[in-house]
Amino acid sequence: MFLNNLEAVSLEYPDRAVPLESPFYVDRTPSEQLSCDEILKPGSVTRIQAPQKMGKSSLLLRIIDFARKQSYKVVKIDFQEADTAVYANLNKFLRWFCANIARQLKLKPLLDEYWDEEMGSKVSCGIYLEGYLLEEIDTPIVLALNEVNLVFEHQHIAEEFLPMLRFWHEQARQSIQFQKLRFVVVHSTEVYLSLDINQSPFNIGLPIKLSEFNLEQVRDLAGRHGLNWTGANEAQQLMAMVGGHPYLVRVALYHLALEQITLEELLKVAPTQGGIYGSILRDRWEIIQKQPKLSAALKQIVMDSESESVNLEPIVSYKLESLGLVKLDGDLVYPSCQMYRLYFAGQYQQEIKQISLENLKKENQELRNLVYIDALTKISNRRLFDEHLEREWRRMARERKSISLILLDIDCFKLYNDTYGHQAGDKCLQQVASAIHSCLKRGGDLAARYGGEEFAVILPQTNLQGAVCIAGEIQNSIKAKAIEHIKSKVELKIVTASIGLTSIIPHPETDPTILLRATDEALYRSKKLGRDRINIGKIGNIH
Ligand code: GH3
Ligand code: MG
Ligand code: MG
Repeated sequence: MFLNNLEAVSLEYPDRAVPLESPFYVDRTPSEQLSCDEILKPGSVTRIQAPQKMGKSSLLLRIIDFARKQSYKVVKIDFQEADTAVYANLNKFLRWFCANIARQLKLKPLLDEYWDEEMGSKVSCGIYLEGYLLEEIDTPIVLALNEVNLVFEHQHIAEEFLPMLRFWHEQARQSIQFQKLRFVVVHSTEVYLSLDINQSPFNIGLPIKLSEFNLEQVRDLAGRHGLNWTGANEAQQLMAMVGGHPYLVRVALYHLALEQITLEELLKVAPTQGGIYGSILRDRWEIIQKQPKLSAALKQIVMDSESESVNLEPIVSYKLESLGLVKLDGDLVYPSCQMYRLYFAGQYQQEIKQISLENLKKENQELRNLVYIDALTKISNRRLFDEHLEREWRRMARERKSISLILLDIDCFKLYNDTYGHQAGDKCLQQVASAIHSCLKRGGDLAARYGGEEFAVILPQTNLQGAVCIAGEIQNSIKAKAIEHIKSKVELKIVTASIGLTSIIPHPETDPTILLRATDEALYRSKKLGRDRINIGKIGNIH
């Protein structure tokens, strides 16, 4: 792709290490020079540490290129390429490591010839290296170890492997063979393992900490993209959003060079999932959400202006740092750039909103329960009964359909209380309520506690025949509970109920009072005629 204002330079999307010949590689002086000088030294270790996408692999590429120009052999081990099974135990890991080196040096692995179970895997590995590989190769060898942070995650391996590197580095003082080795160790997090600090190889050799681009470098890079950012203004605006993070800066410059978006638009949508950083933000958010500890820490950092004094576990801050989300300055932890602060604060705010909405819904339900549910029997109370009856009455009047009402009164309940006590009486009411409730089948049916030991059932779209059927079921269901009531005037000596029911197609200009009165009257007759029975009310009789 060629641009009008960019002479014969093809743009490249910055999704991998910057190629050697790329015009978009900005030297982070003096890192390149220092690390190249270092690999000239026998037995040296260069440690490159920086968060993700800061340019570690691009620097490594240049060191390797330099080494090849010295006619050194180069072995690249990327711990990302190791299967999970490789980390199962130290022996497996070291054999994988050695075989990998041999293969790249074009030597036969011959692992079994040098590996001695009796000696242990660490000693075997040392013998293999010194007695075989280094013996066979005459030139210096650059061992470039990438993504070493993945080894940190397997403490049982790291505890043995890292001190081994240190030991080999020290061996170079006396062993000509080990002097051939030059390590370049690349990792995105600090060594957060609780290794004995004197044994850790990470406090040896030359540390190179890659820093972000400064204003001058961002302007220079913009120029290489054909952007005429002569004033510092544009570069400053971009850096106010994404800092000098090489990858984020390059993504922006790539899009600006394509002239598909203006800087103003780009900055506006930068902290959103719809912007040019959308997939990066989403990726980060997914990673964070999978790790509750990281998420809790990040939330505090982006939401709380006091967060700079937050005391985080070192491993948490290192992991956030390696993801490029925060910067550490001694004990201070702060968002690495405004874009992450804005995006993550927005995400957490949404999460909080969601939670409070759910709480509100729950509270509403609880409030509704308080207003409409009978506390003792947990079925509807009189208030809901009245509202439901009113509503269904009007609906049935409109639809010209029957509505039935059942009123039910427990027989000799006062005697029940007197015999078994008030608490047993309460329990009996609960059992009767559940017996009634279990007989209802349709969504519009409603059972309510009408008062004291009286219950009511509203049955919309139910005619007399259907209502008689349900009333019978209720009567039997209460009896089926077989609640002993020795003082009852009913022969059975168990808890029974008297029932009144009425069915009607409501007239639009009437109200449910007539239904209630007729049903009450029917219930009264059931009582009078000896209890434990069902009577049907007649509307006409009431007027
Ligand atoms: P009948 O067969 O004629 O209906 O006689 P009854 O004893 O059932 O009727 P009455 O109206 O004389 O007595 C109702 C009793 O119901 C009196 C009252 O203490 C009791 N009661 C009302 N509400 C509750 C309650 O919430 N818990 C308990 N344990 N008893 C209650
Ligand atoms: Mg009663
Ligand atoms: Mg009563």
